[in-house]
Amino acid sequence: MPERPDAVVIGAGPNGLAAAIRVAQTGRSVIVLEAEETIGGGTRSATLTLPGFIHDVCSAVHPLAVSSSFFRTLPLARYGLEFIHPEIPLAHPLDDTAVALTRSVEETSAGLGADAAAYLRVMRPLVRNADFLMRQFFAPLRLTPAMAAHGPLLARFGLMAIRSAVGLGNAIFKQAPARALLAGLAAHAIQPLENLSTGGYGLMLGVTAHAFGWPVARGGSQKIADALVGELQSFGGRVMTGRRVVSMADLPPARAYLFDVTPRQLVTIAGEALPRSYLNQLNRFRYGPGVFKLDWALDAPIPWRDPRCLRAGTIHLGGSLEEIATSEATVGRGQAPQAPYVLLSQPSLFDATRAPAGKHTVWAYCHVPNGSTVDMTDRIEAQVERYAPGFRNRVLARNVMTPADIERHNANCIGGDINGGSGDLRQWFLRPTWRRYATPNRQIYICSSSTPPTGGVHGLCGFFAAQTALRRAFR
Ligand SMILES: Cc1cc2nc3c(=O)[nH]c(=O)nc-3n(C[C@H](O)[C@H](O)[C@H](O)COP(=O)(O)OP(=O)(O)OC[C@H]3O[C@@H](n4cnc5c(N)ncnc54)[C@H](O)[C@@H]3O)c2cc1C
Repeated sequence: MPERPDAVVIGAGPNGLAAAIRVAQTGRSVIVLEAEETIGGGTRSATLTLPGFIHDVCSAVHPLAVSSSFFRTLPLARYGLEFIHPEIPLAHPLDDTAVALTRSVEETSAGLGADAAAYLRVMRPLVRNADFLMRQFFAPLRLTPAMAAHGPLLARFGLMAIRSAVGLGNAIFKQAPARALLAGLAAHAIQPLENLSTGGYGLMLGVTAHAFGWPVARGGSQKIADALVGELQSFGGRVMTGRRVVSMADLPPARAYLFDVTPRQLVTIAGEALPRSYLNQLNRFRYGPGVFKLDWALDAPIPWRDPRCLRAGTIHLGGSLEEIATSEATVGRGQAPQAPYVLLSQPSLFDATRAPAGKHTVWAYCHVPNGSTVDMTDRIEAQVERYAPGFRNRVLARNVMTPADIERHNANCIGGDINGGSGDLRQWFLRPTWRRYATPNRQIYICSSSTPPTGGVHGLCGFFAAQTALRRAFR
């Protein structure tokens, strides 16, 4: 390692790698120290079940990577990254039908019966301005000249976006399918759907599906991390694995340290270099619910009752808006839901490299209270069976990850929290403190998903943290 790199990044997740690339782009030397033996943090793949079956250990579906205003500037295809777009980004089966969210707003609305016109009215202007909206909401909160130009759009979106998913769904839609679609999208927020702004979360995710697609990476999500490392190396940057940083004494001298860790870890590692008042703020940071995850190796595709589900990359299971809201509210009260809302991805239907010929990999998780020890295997599989009778007969092997397993895999997932901290309205824009990426120490920065714009494989937390460090530490 260079004896005195300009910057050291701690953690090789997508945000750590994005931060390292941004610093390296300015001609400065950077090294990345990663605790685990493999790079990628929340975007890694592994043979979790049987030989020849490649599973995404954490992230699987990548609307935020393909819409990222930073990743889109990088030549990641040069390093082997290819996104595959399933014909239908998202399907949401119900007991008697299924909703298909396709790339076309018109086609999607046509499947929503009496809510077709309302869906068009709400979604069309948002999808037309998707690029602008993503740049506003996947960035630190700030006023830009472009906002004035889009005043009416922002006002209209803001009035809807501030509402809860339950309130918004019941106000704009009349029937169960459209309401369920919105609830499934909003539940990605990992919060009770009665919470303010969960409606906006659902709308924005729907916009990403129409405008950018919900692709998977050919060969597995690991390819995203590998491509980011390829780009970093092209600027002379280096990643060293198996290097867990436990204190500032583990770090070489440098002008800036960018930590791809969450506040609790930062307090432990860098507490002595930070004032007590700031540490108190970090200690008040709230973590969100955890997830319980299953990966299956199957001997055939899932036998969905509605065949459109076989054309979809992602499936939301959990039924109506009311059922999904009950599941998320139960988690919010600190209990494991009996009938959980389940997110499911079936990448091998679209990417033959994921499994031996004719066989399949499937990834699914549900939300549970932080640190929950309840075994959700049967409850998740019952939700798949509900819409795909005979599913269990196709299972060759399964891998189970409890919240504790997920944290063991990646120290950033405290109690199984996959978003680096609760993303409720209070902690969305100002996280982990009002200083966001900066700390009172000009050498120390936070670049993980514990900063805006929160969780997801988009690298934008890393990008904005690097911009902050470049302004403050390298003046
Ligand atoms: C089960 C699951 C499913 C998900 N699904 C999706 C999805 O489909 N789409 C999506 O966009 N996002 C998804 N996510 C979220 C996404 O993975 C994260 O938001 C994203 O990886 C956060 O990136 P990061 O760089 O901030 O942190 P991470 O990716 O968590 O990386 C942090 C890195 O820091 C390392 N580290 C931690 N402590 C130390 C230390 N002391 N010393 C050295 N290194 C350290 C860790 O080992 C890790 O490599 C999912 C996450 C999980 C867990």
